[in-house]
Amino acid sequence: MSAKKDLKTYKQKRDFAKTPEPKGVGKKKLLSKIPQFVIQKHDATRLHYDFRIEMNGVLKSWAIPKGPSLDPKDKRLAIETEDHPLEYGSFEGVIPEGEYGAGPVIVWDRGHFANIKIGKDGNKVESLEACYHKGHIRLWLEGQKIKGGYDLIRTGDSNHWLLVKEQDEEADPSRNPVVTEPQSVITGKTIEEMMEDGRDEE
Ligand code: MN
Repeated sequence: MSAKKDLKTYKQKRDFAKTPEPKGVGKKKLLSKIPQFVIQKHDATRLHYDFRIEMNGVLKSWAIPKGPSLDPKDKRLAIETEDHPLEYGSFEGVIPEGEYGAGPVIVWDRGHFANIKIGKDGNKVESLEACYHKGHIRLWLEGQKIKGGYDLIRTGDSNHWLLVKEQDEEADPSRNPVVTEPQSVITGKTIEEMMEDGRDEE
């Protein structure tokens, strides 16, 4: 599917005259050689963490109510949401009252990722798209807060997936950056400060 088609739902849900979110023009220059991921903290109806990974010119997206864990014992529910434009990866701000997803958004973590899913032949990496369609994605994340191997596994045919930390040198149950490192990696603002700033601008 083309990025244009993938972004139809994203565009239908939003009134760009009202929301400061990017329109998603799909600029080719934004396509990166090394794929990007972003985790946005979003205080909408319910607080959640939007995990987004670059695939085929869009950001495939999941809402994770509890955020990512560094403990391989944790299975974090990740609800797949609509594809977002690549530009969304640097979006921070306050989505106004009455708009879809109303509430403050910060970029909680971001960086590059590598697809580490090995195919059946034992050495070739399967394409990210094939992994997505099969419902089992394996990623190595290189963020500022979150690093290491993660599995994203679809449960049944629903939009419910699980995000699980793999057992590797970056696994660390003693660290919980969702609690200890709440700030934006771009501005250093907390989600509360972002909300306050949004109010001041009104
Ligand atoms: Mn969200």
